[in-house]
Amino acid sequence: MAQIHDRPSVDRKARLTIPAQTIRKQDPSVRVLNWREVYLPLDIEMAKVEAERCIQCPAAPCQVACPAGNDIPAALWKLEHGDPVGAADVFHETSNLPEMCGRLCPQERLCEGHCVVGKHAKPVAIGRLEAFVADWQRVHAPAAAPAPPPTGKRVAVVGAGPAGLVVAEELAKLGHAITVFDAWPSPGGVLRYGIPSFKLEKRVLDERLAELRRLPIRFIGDTSIGTRGGKTVDDLLAEGYDAVFLGHGAGVGNELQIEGVGLAGIMQATEFLSRANVAPQDLPPRMRTPLQPGRRTVIIGGGDTSMDCARTAVRLGAEEVSLVYRRTGQEMVGREEERKHAREEGVRFEFLAAPVRFLGDDAGHVRAVRFERMELGPPDESGRRRPSPIPGSEFTVEADAVVLAIGYGVDEQVAASAAGVLADRYGVVLVDRASGETDRPGVFAGGDNINGADLVVTAIRDARIAARAMRAYLEQAAPVSTAAAT
Ligand SMILES: Cc1cc2nc3c(=O)[nH]c(=O)nc-3n(C[C@H](O)[C@H](O)[C@H](O)COP(=O)(O)OP(=O)(O)OC[C@H]3O[C@@H](n4cnc5c(N)ncnc54)[C@H](O)[C@@H]3O)c2cc1C
Repeated sequence: MAQIHDRPSVDRKARLTIPAQTIRKQDPSVRVLNWREVYLPLDIEMAKVEAERCIQCPAAPCQVACPAGNDIPAALWKLEHGDPVGAADVFHETSNLPEMCGRLCPQERLCEGHCVVGKHAKPVAIGRLEAFVADWQRVHAPAAAPAPPPTGKRVAVVGAGPAGLVVAEELAKLGHAITVFDAWPSPGGVLRYGIPSFKLEKRVLDERLAELRRLPIRFIGDTSIGTRGGKTVDDLLAEGYDAVFLGHGAGVGNELQIEGVGLAGIMQATEFLSRANVAPQDLPPRMRTPLQPGRRTVIIGGGDTSMDCARTAVRLGAEEVSLVYRRTGQEMVGREEERKHAREEGVRFEFLAAPVRFLGDDAGHVRAVRFERMELGPPDESGRRRPSPIPGSEFTVEADAVVLAIGYGVDEQVAASAAGVLADRYGVVLVDRASGETDRPGVFAGGDNINGADLVVTAIRDARIAARAMRAYLEQAAPVSTAAAT
């Protein structure tokens, strides 16, 4: 957690009378016809006024609630005084990807959910302001390309998602040579291959990657590390990397073991989102065939991923999109804002229903889903009320496309390929939380692979913790080898 600084003294009462700025969005009827972000860009004058609504509370509960510990009042103080670049610098002190967090964090339960202004009026639009200043800086004051003297140390990073990118940047800035391996062709992880463009336009990621490419970072795509083919983590260490960071995320889609699941037209969320949203050149050849939009698309699941799939199906041109969840809206874990956007865009919600089998046509294509009604009992281990089926309650929903968005797990074969790295029975890598160190010296981990599927901001936080510990580790260790490691 970053230090909480003294706050400037301001007239808090007067600030509470400043009206919240209206942050404009694309109208639902327009935005379903394009893939651009829902929110329209802010202008600097509006951003300054919105920043001035911050009452500079000494305790800064917004900062305390931010997993990265962003000094939000300090950043907004600079913004209101006409210094968006200085504001972006404040965010960069604690986060490498403020343009992502500003767009993607569930602010309503983090910074904005704790904003004291929110007790009297609308909370300060911290997320939009964070994204605004980070975007402003990239366009108006891009960082000068630093040329750190090479240290001779090499670091391998497995996974080019937010966690891997953070470690790569932090260590490359010190002059270490970084090689980032990823199973997908292009870097970005879920920022590219999961989150749709209407939440995060790909150009934002590409601009940020262009900055990283000016550092000693080499991205190697289409390369899976682990026990299933390719190199193992042990191989990387044997090749001469001085340290390895595991940032392989939690990208294995949970499977539904029910009759008919192999029918054509049924696919996992990641494949659906990637084929719909990612440029063909960034996809493996097997995924480049255009996605045939379903007329009636059923999405199964109740988290942010299911909402992303439903809204993607709408943009692909589906006539009917139903999202079916086995609990109710109250137990949904994702953002209320995303659900609101989905409803505005015409997605139909069907609660308290779970699939029992898929029905196919003569050609082996899905034509319908049989569901059964659920009722909620006492809370389960997740703290949410456990659903159980109501006997004799089956019903059919017609569908020519079905997307399974029922959660993600960690691919256990990555940690298994490093002798001494321990993981739990779900493949979640076990680390010292204060350093990201695994039980194998020189191997660190962070992000969804240590938390289970979580958030961009927690991946950033953990990766920064690991990067600090790796820095210390690399300073102590003599280079393992001068041989060119790939
Ligand atoms: C559809 C979707 C929507 C989401 N929306 C939000 C949101 O709105 N807000 C939010 O905060 N979070 C959201 N999340 C969660 C967020 O994206 C993740 O928490 C975050 O990306 C985790 O970062 P990471 O770097 O740990 O993992 P990832 O982003 O998953 O990156 C891991 C990378 O490792 C690579 N990899 C995996 N195995 C191997 C291997 N064996 N060899 C080489 N490379 C490998 C993968 O290809 C991937 O590129 C969403 C997730 C999904 C799936």
